[in-house]
Amino acid sequence: MRTWTTSDSESTSSYVNKLKFSPKHKYKTERNTQDMPAVEKGSTVLVTGVTGFIGAWAAEILLQEGYKVIGTVRDEQKASQLKETFDKYGDAFRLATVKDLQEEGAFNEVARRVDGILHVASPFHFNTKDVKKDLIEPAVNGTLNLLKSAAQSKTVSRVVVTSSFAAMMEQKEAPFTFTEEVWNKSSSKEVEKDNTNSFHGYLASKSEAEQAAWDFVKNEKPSFDLAVINPVYVFGPVVQPVKDAESLNTSAGMIFATLSGKDIPNEGNHQNYVDVRDVARAHVRALQNEEAGGHRHITSAGPFGQGQIAGILKKHFPEAKVQQPKTEELPKTGLTAESLTAKNLGIDYIPLEKSVVDTAESLKRFL
Ligand code: NAP
Repeated sequence: MRTWTTSDSESTSSYVNKLKFSPKHKYKTERNTQDMPAVEKGSTVLVTGVTGFIGAWAAEILLQEGYKVIGTVRDEQKASQLKETFDKYGDAFRLATVKDLQEEGAFNEVARRVDGILHVASPFHFNTKDVKKDLIEPAVNGTLNLLKSAAQSKTVSRVVVTSSFAAMMEQKEAPFTFTEEVWNKSSSKEVEKDNTNSFHGYLASKSEAEQAAWDFVKNEKPSFDLAVINPVYVFGPVVQPVKDAESLNTSAGMIFATLSGKDIPNEGNHQNYVDVRDVARAHVRALQNEEAGGHRHITSAGPFGQGQIAGILKKHFPEAKVQQPKTEELPKTGLTAESLTAKNLGIDYIPLEKSVVDTAESLKRFL
């Protein structure tokens, strides 16, 4: 995957902790916040995409914190594996089958039974020659479908949508700092020129789906409000059902490529990273904290280089024939990513070395 966005200053987490302000998003739903408590512990939360890397961790953190979870699945085999994973939580974890997230009314029934929603399900891969059909339509229509069902529910008070830093990143002249005020406007234009461009297709799927979500709450004024999480590249241990290395989620697959000695993907580029456990916590904080409503939230622990990852893996897994990186230095690009809304979530981010080692520990079984 080509990368444009980087950070080469102090870590994002330490920087944002110093920020004292949190501008309201222009699409904040007007409502009396005293009438609308955030989603409290003990409530029931719908997690779409619960069979995925982030969704499974979001369910785990919710269950650990005393919520009940209903996860939507489309694959029976993954459903039964996931049931085993969360068996320890008994009836607090349940599944509902939603075969097609684009089908009108697909979430109506399940939305009636929950107090909050984490909408995580969306395609994240680059494996298509028809990006509108395979990436953009499921992302946009799935999000709108979910929001329409939430709007019909009498119980949902907040919806958290998993967007991405992809909804912000586009080519910029350095020096430039990406914040929640920046939108990726160019990827959709690139897709108009070339519908086989899966890199821009994925980016456009995230910016268009997120924009559609903000437009929905602005125009429809539903009784719930919206918070958005915009993770950068996500590492961390895999707990979702995975059959083999080929079916790993995209971001864990990148670490596996390096661990297995096959490749050091995109060596020379760097991006920002965040651990999946922190992304999951960010989703839960965004449900709990009133202040998170109406905001986008970049979740980023700081920059990483692909060579750095190879270095960490070589040190901790000497048996794993990791290729020698050209350099473990972080390239200096003058592009940084900083969150203006981090105080809404209050996450103390997991450091890169721990995140990479824990990822690799969970992937060793596929070597
Ligand atoms: P993942 O492991 O591939 O999970 C994707 C989830 O969405 C799975 O549960 C998948 O269901 C479901 N899904 C995908 N396409 C679907 C469709 N057409 N219909 C129904 N369900 C569908 O990916 P992930 O890394 O957890 O990503 C989850 C979300 O986080 C996505 O919105 C992604 O854009 C966002 N995100 C990820 C990263 C990252 O680095 N991982 C960074 C920023 C944002 P099945 O299991 O049935 O396929």
